[in-house]
Amino acid sequence: MRRWAAIILASVILSVSAVPAATAQVGQPDIVQEHWYHSYATLTLDVNAWADDYPDIVNLLVVGQTEMGRNLWMLQISDWSQEIKPDGAAKEVVYIDGGHHGNEHLGTELAFLVAEYYIEGWADGEQEVLDVLAATELHILIMLNADGNDFDTRWNVNQVDLNRNYDHYWNTCPTTQPGSSAFSESETHANSIYMNEIVPHADLYITMHTGVWIMLYPWGKWPEQPSDWEMFHFIRDDVHANISDIPIQNANQGLYPNCGTSRDYGYGVMGYPTFTFETDDEQWLLGTVEALSERLGEELDVMNYLIENVWYWRARLVVDSLEVEDGKVHLSVSNLGRASTSNATLIYVDEGDVWAPGDYRAMDGEPCGDGYPYTIDNSDFNFSTPGCGFGVNATNSTVTTLDFGDAPISSEGQFYLVYQKRVVDSSMFVWSESVNESVVEMKAGDSGLLPAPSMLLVFVAFALAAINSRNRKFE
Ligand SMILES: [Zn+2]
Repeated sequence: MRRWAAIILASVILSVSAVPAATAQVGQPDIVQEHWYHSYATLTLDVNAWADDYPDIVNLLVVGQTEMGRNLWMLQISDWSQEIKPDGAAKEVVYIDGGHHGNEHLGTELAFLVAEYYIEGWADGEQEVLDVLAATELHILIMLNADGNDFDTRWNVNQVDLNRNYDHYWNTCPTTQPGSSAFSESETHANSIYMNEIVPHADLYITMHTGVWIMLYPWGKWPEQPSDWEMFHFIRDDVHANISDIPIQNANQGLYPNCGTSRDYGYGVMGYPTFTFETDDEQWLLGTVEALSERLGEELDVMNYLIENVWYWRARLVVDSLEVEDGKVHLSVSNLGRASTSNATLIYVDEGDVWAPGDYRAMDGEPCGDGYPYTIDNSDFNFSTPGCGFGVNATNSTVTTLDFGDAPISSEGQFYLVYQKRVVDSSMFVWSESVNESVVEMKAGDSGLLPAPSMLLVFVAFALAAINSRNRKFE
């Protein structure tokens, strides 16, 4: 509606003043956009119009070119007046792409509709949209294969299937036209650079296609359920109970074995929770009689659900209590997220030393306890670890005892919680906010002597997120 108004307004100005046409970009009128699938040319008009009209929330970038030199347009949508969330935490990051296959127009349109929903919702002041954009960055590349789109073909101009060209078990399935090597094509190469350099922290990646009406989670390569099956099954069950009956399956079983896909790369290499979203099977028409926003309304509802709940698509550990006794730490941890985690541990840093992110890694090698032994890359400060890590199941609480041995633990030092966001090996580590000193309490044992071997220190600690929602305990 706003774009019609802009066109009418421009006409009025022209007729009254005879001034040359305004140079501001104007997107397609809604009546056209709703019934004709985007070409590269009309997409270029629309994304530039958004960037011109809504600079407060839309950044438009060119993140590469197709093999024939067409721009890969990236929309970055968020409330850019706020660098971080109102609560001081980093914003969640959602990555969406469309149009790997140039003839799968409805999938490409779904990526467009997601962008439009949040941009127009913001312009209309819809509270749900304002809340999402205050807390979330949406990165949306609507049309990856613009050359193939113009030719209305699955392949890119080199006759490569872009969704078999990713560097995850590339060319290891019976497949067609995966390219000469992984990331041999400029489109997939650009997409991988964006994932690795701009959105490595994303907690959701959706790639849009058209085919069978289905949502596919990893793996395409293997029939087995992925390590983070609890999270994918939770999403499946929640969508089915409340939003849509769209089938949601492991890609290998739901479709057929496929390798080198952006979905398996997104999960297996980047560690993102990833879905291939396949809209229904119309591939050969240039437009639709039913308005796109109505035709894809249910799919858009599913997308909004995934985006609004992105905070949950990883593990979110909260320390409920932490008690030190004779070198052993009795730890109670709750997981507020919907993904399990492995490789969790506590790091204890001596008084006066400062822990920094990136100083730790899980050691390759034999599992130890419920996780892996930790090694520390940075030996410039004094620290202690319990040797073994632990795991926490999705939505559960875990009580564990970690043996710090002879480590000189005192109330002057500081504990940090470290864990992987998801179970899959490639998922990122979270180095938590330190266990907050202001809520640490210490209680001497019966003897009251310091430092006696039998001294009992009791720390009761709460992670920042839980401070306001839980009562303090002093035992
Ligand atoms: Zn496809």
